Amino acid sequence: MNESCLCGNQRSFSACCKPYLEQKVSPDTPEKLMRSRYTAYALGGYGEYLLKTWFPPMVKNLSVSELSEKTQQWINLEVLGSGHKNTEGWVEFKATYQGTNGNSILHEKSVFTLIGQQWFYIGGEIK
Ligand SMILES: [Zn+2]
Repeated sequence: MNESCLCGNQRSFSACCKPYLEQKVSPDTPEKLMRSRYTAYALGGYGEYLLKTWFPPMVKNLSVSELSEKTQQWINLEVLGSGHKNTEGWVEFKATYQGTNGNSILHEKSVFTLIGQQWFYIGGEIK
């Protein structure tokens, strides 16, 4: 499969986000986690992965089946910047999706935390 990954990296899905979504390995940076979570939303059906990479106190009552639903048609991801220091990480991105009146852009700065060897998504601030 030569198709480049939905997350925007110039690599194939199987060499990029797939091993994360199948929980074979954990992303070792917040940016890799963010990209793989975007891919999970864009593909649909990966609710379990989304739930397992979400900082538990922030999940509220979302279920695996709710998170597996493909609620938006995601078109493009652009990572504007990212970084991490000790157990804190951040990623700023613009994600384009198909809205009812043309394309819309979600501009968010997400924050992450490292627990043990795994990064978790805490939440995001809309820009
Ligand atoms: Zn990817």
